[in-house]
Amino acid sequence: MSDCVIIGGGASGMMAAVYAAGKGAAVRLLEQNEKLGKKLYITGKGRCNLTNTAEPDEFMRHIMRNPRFCYAALSHLDSAGVMSLIEAQGVPVKVERGGRVFPVSDHASDVTKALERAMLKHGVRVTLGAKVSSLELEEGRVTGVTLSNGQFIPAGTVIVATGGQSYPSTGSTGDGWVFAERSGHRTKPPLPALVGIETVESWPSALSGLTLKNVRLSAKNAKGKTIYDEQGELLMTHFGVSGPLALSLSSALAEQPEETPLSLDLKPALSAETLDERILRDIRAASRKQISSIMDGLEPHALGATILSLCGVSPALPANALTAEQRRRVLTAIKSLPLTVRRLRGLDEAVVTRGGIDVRDINPSTMMSKRVSGLFFAGETIDIDALTGGFNLQLAFSTGALAGESAANYLKAADGSAVREEESEHEREYDGQNLFQSDRRAFRRGEIIRRARGRKASRRHLSRHRRHVPGDGAVHAQTGRRSPRRRRGRRPRRKCQHRSRI
Ligand SMILES: Cc1cc2nc3c(=O)[nH]c(=O)nc-3n(C[C@H](O)[C@H](O)[C@H](O)COP(=O)(O)OP(=O)(O)OC[C@H]3O[C@@H](n4cnc5c(N)ncnc54)[C@H](O)[C@@H]3O)c2cc1C
Repeated sequence: MSDCVIIGGGASGMMAAVYAAGKGAAVRLLEQNEKLGKKLYITGKGRCNLTNTAEPDEFMRHIMRNPRFCYAALSHLDSAGVMSLIEAQGVPVKVERGGRVFPVSDHASDVTKALERAMLKHGVRVTLGAKVSSLELEEGRVTGVTLSNGQFIPAGTVIVATGGQSYPSTGSTGDGWVFAERSGHRTKPPLPALVGIETVESWPSALSGLTLKNVRLSAKNAKGKTIYDEQGELLMTHFGVSGPLALSLSSALAEQPEETPLSLDLKPALSAETLDERILRDIRAASRKQISSIMDGLEPHALGATILSLCGVSPALPANALTAEQRRRVLTAIKSLPLTVRRLRGLDEAVVTRGGIDVRDINPSTMMSKRVSGLFFAGETIDIDALTGGFNLQLAFSTGALAGESAANYLKAADGSAVREEESEHEREYDGQNLFQSDRRAFRRGEIIRRARGRKASRRHLSRHRRHVPGDGAVHAQTGRRSPRRRRGRRPRRKCQHRSRI
């Protein structure tokens, strides 16, 4: 029997395997594809933006859904931890604009290779072409998984790392939702995030392929409150808008974004007054020229022509014939060109999935299910998502690492529990009264031993207690506490120390 079975060989599954095996668990990773990291391979346009060096507060601001849930996982393995782990496997990384981290080689496959090497080092057993069709449960705890060919694989713990539902061709088809729902977990419906936006207006399609740099895009909700207001790059497409601004806006929109009004400021660096003065100056300097050539000085030719057309101004109009009303319309169009959301593009085009397993059913300190013992979740299959910039992969790595380590700790604690039962019998015999019920926790903290000492227990009894101290150094899955004997002699271990070992 494998101690820990991991479903999914993506970013979170591989990291979970490294951490579970690094903590001594016998790990088996099951991936339905013919290779590991199929989605990783296409990340960052094939370069893999694996994390971001943003400071913790800034990092949290980039998490769109359930940032507080991610806190423990991110403290467990942060961006520095991911970078050193990847570099330790012979893949140097570099930091680019905006704290984005890439492998120096600019090859996403190197990140997968690094994780594969780390798994190999810790003896992880990887099975490719293995599609899990169901989780097996018994009396509220997981006992293994069944593959699509009917084979049952028993396991002490299972980590579901099956990804979201975006880019299903990479293998993330939403099996995690099915496993979670069938085992009694709540889920949030899958919606596309970090995806292009279809607009009601058709003029963007006429400009398809045009990238607008340094423009400002804003959106208001139904109550008129600004929900998005950012400056950057916007790409015109055959369906509407895409590019960095549109992608991050798509994550900020409400679940039903239809009809959301957007506003595009094509000259955010100039106030309306300054822009008006500039247009007047240009007209005075070339009063006989066509208005289209004045627009050419302000915007790319095709966009200038579109603005004139939207304002009902002929491009052939002599500049000095432009009326004050027409000039006001052009000015308004440049400063706040209206767009309306028709809908978001589909999950098959989305960079990430919004929705997933409800975080209320997962313990954020361990990633273990609150409903099924021994079952853990990691990565995009959870209802967490972030903006572009390496934040999503970091979330996958962090939740994977925490789930992996917690699964290993859970197994150690479960091994210890047999010993604890033995102790409890002994305790009854020794004390002549039932200490076990109320004092079990106290026993774990070592208080029983001190109490035994206080009662001048015989050496024999004391030595038996000591011999049976649970786990002898094991870290409890939920509390993270070391067993009593070790705790007295050693300083508590810092959470991040494991990094250097892996
Ligand atoms: C085009 C694109 C570019 C991106 N670029 C970036 C980027 O540069 N930086 C960034 O931070 N994020 C990026 N992302 C997002 C990032 O890739 C994901 O958030 C991340 O890969 C999620 O990791 P995961 O392990 O949760 O899921 P996945 O990587 O999707 O892995 C899930 C794995 O589980 C397997 N699986 C599913 N069901 C089963 C089953 N029943 N049995 C066995 N195996 C199963 C799948 O085959 C898959 O291999 C990008 C996403 C896309 C689509």
